[in-house]
Amino acid sequence: MGRLQKILIPFLGLVLAFWFYSARDTFKPEMLRGKRVIVTGASSGIGEQMAYHLARMGAHVLVTARTEARLQNVVQRCLQLGAASARFVSGTMEDTAFAQHVVREAHTSLGGLDMLILNHVGASYFGFFDGDVEHVRKLLEINFLSYVAMATAALPMLKESEGSIVVVSSMAGKVGFPFTVPYSATKFALDGFFSSLRQEFTIQNINVSITLCILGFIDTERAVRAAAEVLQERPAPRDECALEILKGAALRRRELYYRYSSTRLPLLLRDCAAELLDYLVRSRYR
Ligand code: NDP
Repeated sequence: MGRLQKILIPFLGLVLAFWFYSARDTFKPEMLRGKRVIVTGASSGIGEQMAYHLARMGAHVLVTARTEARLQNVVQRCLQLGAASARFVSGTMEDTAFAQHVVREAHTSLGGLDMLILNHVGASYFGFFDGDVEHVRKLLEINFLSYVAMATAALPMLKESEGSIVVVSSMAGKVGFPFTVPYSATKFALDGFFSSLRQEFTIQNINVSITLCILGFIDTERAVRAAAEVLQERPAPRDECALEILKGAALRRRELYYRYSSTRLPLLLRDCAAELLDYLVRSRYR
């Protein structure tokens, strides 16, 4: 009996610990009900799908992009799907003043912010680096600096709500990708900035989570138009991708990989077989 107790008690302890930690890790749509969320780049693609999922979960949604007519439709649909509220602000993220204005709008209309989803992406080309330094600068402004400006402006509200920053990045922001050199540079910059910022939050006991999302090929119009002909792999569905991002954000994960098999698994090679990984990346292209 004594021996049985010696085995049984630690075993029960382990089961309880596993249950406690895995229960904490279970996503429930209620986690996002009533939350005040900004989604950038929400007039199309993954951002649009995130807005619809948030609406179904009963969140307050503030969407932004440049194309007002599309944003109006997204807002209408969000309201039909059950959003607690839905509104838009249109403008370009080339202008950091606009990025800050979007955050102020959340303060004015929602009285605070629980989640900032940084997802927009400026247009770039698909092909060998053409030496256009001005294009790299412009893309850094849209894909990187505006993210920094929005996160900085939103921080006081996020500290108050103990909220979350979600940064949508790419495999091209973790490993060198050919044919998208300027884009890849902007995504690497996001990792450097937000992963370092996360460290500082920990040191300063700032309870704002940062989730960096590493995405593979997703079936949005822009990506399919640019890469479907040259990539060997099939794109993953954007609505599922959008939901996975929201789950990762709600669970305050530090990084999220979608799809796991085409992102996290190849990245395991990075430190032990970097050249093999480079080869595998190149071999994705026809
Ligand atoms: P889309 O091209 O479908 O959407 C991009 C969004 O950004 C649109 O709403 C667009 O709206 C907005 N946008 C573009 N330029 C600007 C600008 N100057 N100012 C403000 N908003 C702008 O992209 P995806 O949905 O495919 O991508 C979403 C995110 O996912 C991006 O960060 C991307 O890098 C990442 N990703 C996507 C992958 C994929 O295969 N699809 C793979 C890996 C990462 P508008 O034109 O109206 O301004």
